[in-house]
Amino acid sequence: LSKKQGRHQFSFFDPFLQKIIDQQLDLEKDIINALAEGQFTAFFQPQLDMNEKIIGVEALLRWIHPEKGIIPPLHFLPVAEQYGLITQIEQCVFADACQLMNELLHLGLADEKFTIAVNISAVEFKSPRFKETLIEALNRFQLPANRFKLEVTESMLVHDIEDTIQQMNVLKSIGFRLSIDDFGTGYSSLNYLHAFPIDELKIDKSFTDKMLVSKSGKAVINAIISLAFNLGIKVIAEGVESEEQYHQLKQRYVSAIQGFLFAKPMEKSKLIEWIRNNLES
Ligand code: C2E
Ligand code: MG
Ligand code: MG
Ligand code: MG
Repeated sequence: LSKKQGRHQFSFFDPFLQKIIDQQLDLEKDIINALAEGQFTAFFQPQLDMNEKIIGVEALLRWIHPEKGIIPPLHFLPVAEQYGLITQIEQCVFADACQLMNELLHLGLADEKFTIAVNISAVEFKSPRFKETLIEALNRFQLPANRFKLEVTESMLVHDIEDTIQQMNVLKSIGFRLSIDDFGTGYSSLNYLHAFPIDELKIDKSFTDKMLVSKSGKAVINAIISLAFNLGIKVIAEGVESEEQYHQLKQRYVSAIQGFLFAKPMEKSKLIEWIRNNLES
């Protein structure tokens, strides 16, 4: 065996794989730079009751890139998670959410029920520092936790059940509300659902879509709604795009809706204008 062969014994060269790795590293550098430059911001999408009055918003991460424009979260969140950058990014979103709540309260545009939902990644949810960073942000603006709804995905209900329940109880005791995002896509055990101190199920867009298309689609949505009803928790439908979907949901036990039919995610100043119009109409 030549020396050269020996050295290369365990390495390989796959140009395709190499390209992916290079791209990820570029993206990682870009994200670090974006954090330093303050390019991450939250947009906000209204959530409405069944009288079409605003009851809150969901904060949705946006990367305002100086050359590439607005980059949607799913294009970079997986890499951010992988490289341990998600904590800092989510802190930006929560800070923006606090800032918005503070402004709405001062403007008299948020009644006592108005909440802001924020998405929490599983990595973040499990981190021991997580609740402290939330509390720090609340304290900075003197805001109560019950103005905020933490959206976690259904996968949190599948693994480490005991730990999840405990973490949820801590967050609830601080005052946060808890919502299960994309419900129906994550194989959670219905036997255990009642054990989690959750306030709301959020029907995934894929089911809102299927509701009008097939009998089985309708059956799934009915099942989720009756599950929520029997657990005594709220249910909100996401991704409502058509009048017909809205009409169908209105005939059921659904407490709130969110979707392009009513409003897309907007930057803060646009949202404030939108809220003013909604409250006047
Ligand atoms: P999600 O939490 O399920 O958020 C709803 C997504 O559906 C948003 O996409 C929203 O813009 C979109 N949407 C709402 N209504 C409609 C509709 O009527 N039609 C269509 N076609 N889409 C609608 P977005 O903003 O691209 O976010 C995608 C996902 O990225 C979110 O899904 C959430 O899982 C994740 N995400 C966003 N912000 C954050 C964040 O701050 N932290 C974490 N961990 N994840 C986030
Ligand atoms: Mg969400
Ligand atoms: Mg969702
Ligand atoms: Mg979804």
